[in-house]
Amino acid sequence: MRNGISHAIDVVEAPASKIDSVDFDNLVFGNVFTDHMMECDYVDGQWQNPTIKPYGPIQLEPSAKVFHYGQAIFEGMKAFKDDEDQVWLFRPEANIDRFNKSSVRLAIPEFPKEMFLEGLETLLNLDRDWIKKGLGNSLYIRPFVIATEPGVSASPSKSYKFMIICSPAKAYYSGEVRVVFAEKFSRAANGGVGYAKAAGNYGAQFYPTNLAKEEGYQQIIWTDANTHEYLEEAGTMNIFFRVGDKLLTAPISDRILDGVTRKSVIALAEENNIPIEVRRVTVKEIVEAAKKGELKEIFGAGTAATINPIKGFGHMGEKYELPEQAESYAKFFKSKLMDIQYNRAEDKFDWRY
Ligand code: PMP
Repeated sequence: MRNGISHAIDVVEAPASKIDSVDFDNLVFGNVFTDHMMECDYVDGQWQNPTIKPYGPIQLEPSAKVFHYGQAIFEGMKAFKDDEDQVWLFRPEANIDRFNKSSVRLAIPEFPKEMFLEGLETLLNLDRDWIKKGLGNSLYIRPFVIATEPGVSASPSKSYKFMIICSPAKAYYSGEVRVVFAEKFSRAANGGVGYAKAAGNYGAQFYPTNLAKEEGYQQIIWTDANTHEYLEEAGTMNIFFRVGDKLLTAPISDRILDGVTRKSVIALAEENNIPIEVRRVTVKEIVEAAKKGELKEIFGAGTAATINPIKGFGHMGEKYELPEQAESYAKFFKSKLMDIQYNRAEDKFDWRY
């Protein structure tokens, strides 16, 4: 109960926990789910009957609109456990606000913030043993909404299902990451859905990313669809470039996701007097800086990895390697963020929840 409003969440507990069958030392990201999930349906013009129940399959008609028109959005956030067994979320309200922005863009009804938070807290309390202590351990939280109305007419669904599922995660290490600057394919267009966490934004990246993998790159840095001259973001991360001691990142637009990690890095840079410019970053200036040895670092910022250092990039058939940095910004931001997430440092910005 919050602000005196109770959303009367029904809780059906799992008869037995699966936790003992899980090998927490060898988790593959996103493959194992906790004992419970949250479910809430939108019918007759309102979100109703929020329920927490055992994790398991759901039934939908084959004609449900989500399968045909991709009317679906999601979020990604994490819970962390500190050394005293307290569980923390990191800026959850930013995720909920973005969830609802994504919903509006996909003509999905917004989900009440209080009910979201109350349901999430109840779910995390039930499944709190799945959140392991220790730096790097976390619980990845995946809220999503799908259009459930049966019928293949291409129009917005009248019914939806909101769910939250949770997956325990280890420190994210994806090996050495090399990226390629997009020259042909695009992720987002002006006036499009790039700023929303629309399910289809991700499915549409799989094919060009597979092609990039064949060339030896793990990810694509998307460029603007019109000219491919401006560097925008990666598939699931915002992107930062360090030229000399200056940090550069693209401004948010209707093509770029307003990342929670990105805005936290910008705030931390400002707090720690690291020069940062939020402006359009050109492919040309980054390639030139790399040639002159002035490009010190590239890193991604996103919930899954927090900060993901990038070892090299490719452009127009040329490959560029980045030097090892003794005083890396990527490491600095990663440890600053983790100190806050795991309650090891003062929370000046009030980000812990
Ligand atoms: N860009 C895209 C396209 C993403 O999917 C994500 C992951 N949500 C991010 C950036 C990083 O956002 P956040 O820091 O909020 O996880």
